[in-house]
Amino acid sequence: MAYPFELPELGFAYDALEPHIDARTMEIHHSKHHAGYTKKLNAALEGHADLHGYSAGQLLRGLDGLPASVQSGVRNNGGGFHNHALFWDVLTPGGSAAPTGGLASAIDAAFGSVDALKEKLNAAAGSQFGSGWGWLAISPFGELQVMATANQDSPLLDGYTPIFGVDVWEHAYYLHYQNRRPDYLSAIWNVVNWDRVGARYEAAKDGWIETA
Ligand code: MN
Repeated sequence: MAYPFELPELGFAYDALEPHIDARTMEIHHSKHHAGYTKKLNAALEGHADLHGYSAGQLLRGLDGLPASVQSGVRNNGGGFHNHALFWDVLTPGGSAAPTGGLASAIDAAFGSVDALKEKLNAAAGSQFGSGWGWLAISPFGELQVMATANQDSPLLDGYTPIFGVDVWEHAYYLHYQNRRPDYLSAIWNVVNWDRVGARYEAAKDGWIETA
């Protein structure tokens, strides 16, 4: 997708992730917050026709090379656009059983077990001060890593490719969980679409290798 960016449709109904994520939170999160980032990303790029052919991921990876006047708009709203598109894609009603194939092997090699990954990611996301995201990402060296970022910063800004992310802005959980971020982080694993995380892993795991 490139300019003008459009709000991606959810692959499920707003109430489909109940009780883990409530319908009202999903509706506001998608139709207000994500829609807002989409609109503001387009506004930031409006007068820059030379950038209209790039995806949000490309713009974030190449942020330092963009005109100074669009960098904060792309970082914040392009990040918000891209992060939420990924977030919806790796969620599914009821979740999917567990990682399989290459992703399962890579998780075991990097963290020891899926439970150890969950614990590490929940710790990183849980201790992110203020607004941000917790991530499972592939490093520039092809290794799986858990990380957290502030605000709408994408791991792409630092050369990491996110394959799973959990939003820890209060708008992602406050209506149902109030200040109980750890409860939200525990519940999120019930609705993870491991098939999509696995597909993202397969697509990105060798992406860091340069051909020349
Ligand atoms: Mn959000």
